[in-house]
Amino acid sequence: MMGRIHSVESFGSVDGPGIRYVVFLQGCPLRCAYCHNPDTWPLAGGTEMSAQELFQKIRRYKPYFGEEGGVTVSGGEALLQPEFVRELFLLCHSEGINTALDTSGCVLGEAVLALLEETDTVLLDIKMTTEEAYATYTGGSLAATMAFLQELHRRGIPTWVRQVIVEGLNDTPEDIQALNALMAPYDNIVKVELLPFHKLCRSKYEKLGIPFRFDCYPETREATIRRLQPALVLPGKQYKGRRGGCLNRSK
Ligand code: SF4
Repeated sequence: MMGRIHSVESFGSVDGPGIRYVVFLQGCPLRCAYCHNPDTWPLAGGTEMSAQELFQKIRRYKPYFGEEGGVTVSGGEALLQPEFVRELFLLCHSEGINTALDTSGCVLGEAVLALLEETDTVLLDIKMTTEEAYATYTGGSLAATMAFLQELHRRGIPTWVRQVIVEGLNDTPEDIQALNALMAPYDNIVKVELLPFHKLCRSKYEKLGIPFRFDCYPETREATIRRLQPALVLPGKQYKGRRGGCLNRSK
């Protein structure tokens, strides 16, 4: 199975547990106003590679993954190429390598459900907490993300929730309460991360001739993240692991 790859990072430490080989896939149906990688948007770009070829590159890093690390597939939107990612994850599992998906959860269908069978951890972006804001700032639907989260919960897949914080847009205690309310029913959420909005990507927008809609907002200060962090409520504090057993074949 061939996939379209934007780029890779061989020693990622922020996209899932431990040290990870991170694969950024090409193509995304959303248009987040704060997107760092607008060059990932067109599905037609990137480099074509087979799952087998990519796995041969990944396995060279296996000694660095340790107990916790592994492979994370991100984007763009990883769920646009579910068959390719599933094949890659099957190869990873055949050698005991842990798998994670970093996604907005905007796609659900048979191929995605099959991919979840081979996914150990999900990093889920809940980009905005109301339908209106989600549609305005991403072009997508919060309901789709929540339906995906419900499926992760049904399967008991450990999930990290992430949200980009933009000062003046979603940085009040009420905004965090709204996020808490969305997450509350899902005890498979084992970690929540608030990420600061940055504008390092401005030159990419200029080069592509695409307007950077959030250029008007300031970069988010670390102090803002520190102020909001204590208001987060983690639903999966007592989470005991994937229902039906952990998929990580390395354990
Ligand atoms: S989902 Fe990610 S890659 Fe797609 S537009 Fe949003 S931030 Fe960019």
